Parts: sequence; C-alpha cells; structure tokens
Amino acid sequence: MTVLEIPGAIHLHSGKVRDLYTLPDGHLLMVASDRISAFDHVLSPGIPDKGEILTRMSLWWFDQLADLVPNHVVSTDVPAEVVGRALVVENLDMFPVECVARGYLTGSGLIDYTETGEVCGVRLPAGLTDGSRLPEPIFTPATKADLGEHDENVDFDHVVTAVGTEVADRLRDLTLAVYARAERIARERGIVLADTKFEFGARPDGQIVLADEVLTPDSSRFWPADDLRPGGPQPSFDKQFVRNWLLSAESGWDRSGDVPPPNLPDEIVEKTRARYVEAYERLTGESF
Ligand code: ATP
Ligand code: MG
Repeated sequence: MTVLEIPGAIHLHSGKVRDLYTLPDGHLLMVASDRISAFDHVLSPGIPDKGEILTRMSLWWFDQLADLVPNHVVSTDVPAEVVGRALVVENLDMFPVECVARGYLTGSGLIDYTETGEVCGVRLPAGLTDGSRLPEPIFTPATKADLGEHDENVDFDHVVTAVGTEVADRLRDLTLAVYARAERIARERGIVLADTKFEFGARPDGQIVLADEVLTPDSSRFWPADDLRPGGPQPSFDKQFVRNWLLSAESGWDRSGDVPPPNLPDEIVEKTRARYVEAYERLTGESF
C-alpha cells in the first residue's frame, strides 16, 4: 500500500481503511480511503466514494449527538488531495478502550454468550440466539489489538484498571447514551443498529471527547430493519454482496487458506457502492 503524499502533512499511521497525518498546527488529518475489508483482508479494488460517504456519515452523526458529547471535529477544510473524505480533528490523548455498545446479540458477543452465558461480564438471560434483541443495550468494552490481531472483549473491571473508576463510568455512560440516541434515529429510518464501537479521548484539560469515526458501517453493524430474522446471521447492509461473492464458488477463494482474496468483479463493486449510498441516504435523508 502506498501512502498518499500530502504537502505539509506528516504521515503518522495507516489502518486497514484510514490514514492519519499530523498537521503543522498540531491537529490531526484523518483520511478515509475507499479501501474495504472483509474477513480481515483489505480487498481490491476499493469502493468508489466509500471514503467520502463514510466521512459525511460520521459528520452527520456528530451533529445529531452534539448535545450529548463533544466531538473531535475541528474543520472540514482539508488539503485538495483529500477533499470530501478527510477531517481535521483535535489530537486527543486516546483511551486504550474500544467502547462497544450492543443492542443485539451476534459476532464475538454471541460466541462469548454461547460459552459462558455472559458478554464482557454482563450476564444475559438464557435462550438468546444470533440476532436476538437484548433486554437492554449493554456496554461490552474491548482492548485494541495490535495490527493483524483481533480485539479482545474484556469486562468492566479491566476498563477500571486501565483508566480509573471515574473515567470508566463516564465511558460506559456515554457509550450507552450515544448508542440509545443513534439506535432510535436509525430505527426510525429502517436500519437496525445492532452494535457499534466508539473511541474516546481526553483534551489536555481532561474533558472526554468522542473521536474516530462514528456510526458508520465500518464501525457498526447495520441491518435492514424489514428483514430481521433472529436465529442465524443477518444480512449486513453494506458488505453482503462482497462476503457472498467471496464465499461463492465463482470467486474460487478459500477462506481458510492463506491465499489473499481475488479482485472483486465490477458488478460486486458497483452493488456495494450502491449499498453505502443507500445507507447514507436512508439515514440522513439527503441524496449523496
Ligand atoms: P483498522 O481497520 O486496522 O482498525 P482503520 O482504518 O480503522 O484501521 P485505525 O488504525 O483505526 O484505522 O486508525 C485510526 C486511529 O486514529 C486509531 O488508532 C484511533 O484511535 C486514532 N484516533 C481517532 N481519532 C483520534 C483523535 N482525535 N486523536 C488521536 N487519535 C485518534
Ligand atoms: Mg480502526
């Protein structure tokens, strides 16, 4: 992967999807690329406009949440190379916790529940299945894993040890409050927000600020509300075409092998782009 040169900005870090730079004034430039990942692989080609769609979606959500929590956005005035798909953000002291809220049971939560009856130390009623709505949303923190490793679910005490009682309480309360607001907004628009991950950081004065991307399909599970069938995996709003194709005989790819996935056909790329556009338009009510 070659990193885009941006005059005046110093490249700091690249994840699977996003690239982070430092700006001369000390702020950060967070750039969302068109890269897409599935089954822990970054795929080729990217999905045209994905970076811009997700950036606009995050911004829209930050606005919806502004009365609940301050956010890291400084400006959308970014270098020409990345216009539309980057934000200037405050350089925060990030808490080393992935703040996950779940309203539905699936993924790693389902695995933990099946083994222990609990997710991150939260006991759940018996008889839940893949896609079950939980009695109430729960805070299920995870530790940030190193590159190539999976995040690890941890219990609340682990968060207390990492950041202290006061901050841990605050992160949990903010995570659940923001999730509740977002879940309601999404549901009114026909999207089930099954779970989502937030990252928070602190300003120099200690104030806790919502950072990273928020409530995008990359940080959340979006399910079409009219098609919810607990008891098995739900169709994912955005990556369903990609995953189905990769697992199909047509792609010829072996998920359990160590050969990277083949290039996505044009049709899959185009259909996937349409899903991202649809998610954006359904949520915001604006056309992309
Ligand atoms: P991956 O899929 O591998 O997680 P990604 O494309 O999501 O990759 P990250 O590696 O998560 O990219 O890169 C974003 C990084 O920026 C994260 O480490 C996140 O904690 C950090 N970050 C987000 N907002 C801020 C902020 N305001 N100040 C400092 N760091 C931030
Ligand atoms: Mg990330």
